[in-house]
Amino acid sequence: MTTFDQLGVPEPLTRALARRGITEPFPIQAAAIPDALDGRDILGRAPTGSGKTLAFGLPLLARVGSSRPQRPRALVLAPTRELAEQISKELIPLGKAVGRWTLAVYGGVGYEFQRRNLRRGTDVLVATPGRLTDLIDEGSVSLADIDLVVVDEADRMADMGFMPQVRRLLDQTSTPRQTVLFSATLDGDTAELTRRYQTDPVRHEVEGADDHGDAAHYFWRVAHHDRVATTAEIVRTTTPTIVFTRTRRGADRVARRLQQAGVQAAAIHGGRSQSQRTRALGAFGNGRVKALVATDVAARGIHVDGVASVVHFDLPADPKDYLHRSGRTARAGADGVVVSLVMPDQVTDARTIQRAVGLPEILHDPGDDWLTGRLGGRLGDEPVRAARPRRGGNHRPHRNQGRPRGGARRHARR
Ligand code: ADP
Ligand code: MG
Repeated sequence: MTTFDQLGVPEPLTRALARRGITEPFPIQAAAIPDALDGRDILGRAPTGSGKTLAFGLPLLARVGSSRPQRPRALVLAPTRELAEQISKELIPLGKAVGRWTLAVYGGVGYEFQRRNLRRGTDVLVATPGRLTDLIDEGSVSLADIDLVVVDEADRMADMGFMPQVRRLLDQTSTPRQTVLFSATLDGDTAELTRRYQTDPVRHEVEGADDHGDAAHYFWRVAHHDRVATTAEIVRTTTPTIVFTRTRRGADRVARRLQQAGVQAAAIHGGRSQSQRTRALGAFGNGRVKALVATDVAARGIHVDGVASVVHFDLPADPKDYLHRSGRTARAGADGVVVSLVMPDQVTDARTIQRAVGLPEILHDPGDDWLTGRLGGRLGDEPVRAARPRRGGNHRPHRNQGRPRGGARRHARR
């Protein structure tokens, strides 16, 4: 077994990790950390939940210098405030172990706290492009001393239209500079960033069987008026659940109706204030809220472990969104269940998604498929024609195909 120590991570950091029970590096960490510690530029791709934050965060904290006021030394750019918040939460305690201060700046909250902490001296700045640009424009921070940059989820950054801003920000950083890029795809805009801002980058990709975790995927035929009751049933059997809707109003409406059906639910979307979003995420994280109802944009970069199920209440717009949404469950090797609700006029859309992501083109009626042993499919499986078990069809019915592990099991049957 490799240890972080063997990868070259300094002792104060490995001790801080061990206090959190993290002792064995995940593959992307084992691959990227030694090169990053050497100061190499890195181009990384690894599935959701594979531990990219520490893959860039540990070398960053090991290498970052200490800063003067308002002139941080390392910058981590993230596409959403939730992601920025999560990265900083992970880095702050580790940074303290090596005497480095980390601050997250993002929109939707007041400026004063961010300005004050920049004045006090922040070594590592985690930021969304918009707020960072504002803070630079008003003179609260300068990027001139930044010689270490991480762009996390570069593809999402591009999807959300942030690339021009990201380029303007990177242009203000110091050279030479170490630049680390993580992205789910390495073509298009990410390739462009690489060309402009990286020098001889080492590429590290981790993929394969656990690319999409161990989730079982089901597509259920439902009538329009049954969708909330069906969703409530899924939440009750596989808690906690993230429910996806296409619109903000849809998210509010579904959350309200789940509440009426007796399920503790909260909505999270861009129309809510930062404090509402933080509160909803907190309540979901600590189990008070069983169902988080989210739009695609709001859910980007939400990294909550132990999500037992994902419900596509509204079918996603395209297969890429299907994968992104579904990736909220079955993280870090856990099991998970993904259910798409398919109304009669959506059968063709559902098949398009199934085909694109490599799932069997099967629709089921709602029911506890994972308890009765009826199979949906797993990503990357060969398509099959009939709803019958495929991997050695004679395993015990209770070797569930996707019944969640851990917390969810306690709720699994009523
Ligand atoms: P990604 O950014 O690749 O989606 P994260 O960095 O958010 O994934 O990590 C996913 C989860 O795994 C987090 O809860 C993180 O604390 C945990 N984690 C990361 N590395 C390890 C490790 N080496 N051992 C155990 N847990 C880890
Ligand atoms: Mg991440």
